[in-house]
Amino acid sequence: MAYKLALDADKCRGYANCLIEAPEIWDFDEDTDTAVLRLEHPSQGLRAKAEASARGCPAGAITLVDQERP
Ligand code: SF4
Repeated sequence: MAYKLALDADKCRGYANCLIEAPEIWDFDEDTDTAVLRLEHPSQGLRAKAEASARGCPAGAITLVDQERP
């Protein structure tokens, strides 16, 4: 199933766990100490890493939502 990721930048505390779990998906802005979502719609091949990044965020700033494709 298709899915998307969302980042709540207000909750992000800059732990960078997401970047460690999935460097293909996340980047990090050193100036603001905040994660940057590079891929809002990662491929199915990156799903396990996307889930790990959401699970591993201590601030609960990452949401993964399943999406029906029309
Ligand atoms: S793991 Fe969570 S708190 Fe840490 S940088 Fe990523 S989004 Fe921000």
